[in-house]
Amino acid sequence: MAGAKVKVAVRVRPFNARETSRRAKCVIRMSGNTTCITNPKMPEDATKHFTFDHSYWSHTSEEDPQFASQRRVYQEVGRQLLLQALQGYNVSVLAYGQTGAGKTYTMSGGRGPGQRGLVPQLCEDLFAHVEREGSPELSFSVEVSYLEIYCERVRDLLAPRPQGALRVREHPLLGPYVPGLARLAVTSAGEIAQLVASGDRARTVAATELNARSSRSHAVLSIVVTQRRGEPGEKVSRISLVDLAGSERADAAGTRGTRLKEGANINKSLSTLGKVIAMLADAHKRGKPEFVPYRDSVLTWLLKESLGGNSRTAMIAALSPADINYEETLSTLRYADRTRRIRCHAVVNEDPTARLVRELRGEVARLRALLSQQGLPVDPPPPAPPPPPGAPEPPEPLPALSPAEALERLQETERLVAELNESWEQKLRRTEQLRREREAQLAELGVALREDGATVGVFSPKKTPHLVNLSEDPLMPECLLYQLKDGLTRVGQTDADICLSGPLVGTPHCVFRTCPRPSGEVLVTLEPCEGAETLLDGQRVTEPVELRSGQRLVLGRIHTFRFTHPEQARRDRERCAGAAGAPWGRFGVSLSCPPLRHQELPDRDACPQSVTP
Ligand code: ADP
Ligand code: MG
Repeated sequence: MAGAKVKVAVRVRPFNARETSRRAKCVIRMSGNTTCITNPKMPEDATKHFTFDHSYWSHTSEEDPQFASQRRVYQEVGRQLLLQALQGYNVSVLAYGQTGAGKTYTMSGGRGPGQRGLVPQLCEDLFAHVEREGSPELSFSVEVSYLEIYCERVRDLLAPRPQGALRVREHPLLGPYVPGLARLAVTSAGEIAQLVASGDRARTVAATELNARSSRSHAVLSIVVTQRRGEPGEKVSRISLVDLAGSERADAAGTRGTRLKEGANINKSLSTLGKVIAMLADAHKRGKPEFVPYRDSVLTWLLKESLGGNSRTAMIAALSPADINYEETLSTLRYADRTRRIRCHAVVNEDPTARLVRELRGEVARLRALLSQQGLPVDPPPPAPPPPPGAPEPPEPLPALSPAEALERLQETERLVAELNESWEQKLRRTEQLRREREAQLAELGVALREDGATVGVFSPKKTPHLVNLSEDPLMPECLLYQLKDGLTRVGQTDADICLSGPLVGTPHCVFRTCPRPSGEVLVTLEPCEGAETLLDGQRVTEPVELRSGQRLVLGRIHTFRFTHPEQARRDRERCAGAAGAPWGRFGVSLSCPPLRHQELPDRDACPQSVTP
């Protein structure tokens, strides 16, 4: 079978304010499906022409009859894929292009009317379909996961609490997947929007260099739709919506040698994507199947099915119109042109869960047998359900596995079986639980949210020790509030967790060490670096000192902070209230209790009796 080609659309955005103010020239023209680009430095050179499935002219506004709106892009690219997903195919949309070219605008959209992007429109259409077609005979369930790939590390954007990078695994039956990635049950487009908003916040909360990070990371939103019409009669499809990292410095065509090298380091995933696309694009020329290096990067590994495999795929390449971006835009057009030649081989996923559960159970049995042969104690296998009549039992030989590997794979496979067997009600309950945990976590980080997930403000954390910036200079670029994380928080001019500029700030300047004691109390110590000017309640600090909530810190000449340790303040209040037998606590004892040595802390009686409010 020849397979369906990847659908490729290009889209050119309006000039931004900077381009307009600099009187940038538009180097792109479009006519029908064709896009032309002219080299601004050599206009006499031949204009280059490219033909795509769609060339979207969004450089002007609604009044222009040629103008391509968000609605049109969705109708022609997104809606088609949604319909295919509802037939049971895997589908994916990749937004490609240089930073600032309009990838996020096309996928997520802007805030104004008519600016909603492809993703929210697709979600709404999906649930409208569910509403229309769902019945006692035909049930739909929708689950969502959202991850980010940054510097080849996968981060779960929907995890209830911050966690380390996740690994990508290849399961012999499932293909590449991320063990432990949260997959949340949803019942409306609004819920997906909320999850995405909270995931995006997780992205920005963690970012130190906000723009640098979001332009260098890939965001992959997966929506898994399961339709059940009795037994058998199940269709599962995965909709992958990918907002790729900025393509600058990752031109895999290799037209610019040094830039390619640099790009490969900064963003291995994007350069491998280019390589994979080039190989897939030329695959039909060579006639014989060739090794495609999917596993060379996390992104291509995870998108293996979307690129050359079991998926219907579209790419939207975002273009900048401005003459100064000519080189990047030309390279985006070439990339998009190569992508057009890829063919995918999509098949409808009929009854995958039942088959998968059967096959995974088979694997559990084989792994258990292998482990008990090797003398490792394993629980007796659960009684296997009889295979349905006529179902071929795949005799999958196990590769040579060490006992540790076999045990790990057994645990993983058992978890997968349990996940697949989970009922819809259980999934909804788990999702609700995760949502609450995540909100508590964000609240703890000091971020307040509206119902729709938009951030409404930042307030002091309830537990985490932090520094409140008391400096009055409104022009100072520093934050109002810095959290002191577990372990070390380094302060300095550069290369620090808290970067401060200005006179007498050293590199490094000081370190905050946060460590929990067995009692559960958290101690924060300030360790000044040699020669750096640090004052605590007006006294110069030259050696490590334990901090008490409410103390004032001056770092360098101009940075003044109040150290706040909410838990410690609360404990002190309770201790003092208990000791004095009076409700002094509510007046804020952290100001009136003299600093204590931490050895004395757990002891209630150590608090002075003569506290006055
Ligand atoms: P990217 O995600 O590729 O880095 P963005 O989508 O953030 O780029 O777009 C950069 C800026 O251009 C944003 O302010 C966005 O609102 C604007 N923009 C991008 N594409 C369009 C468009 N088609 N119409 C109007 N504004 C756009
Ligand atoms: Mg973006």
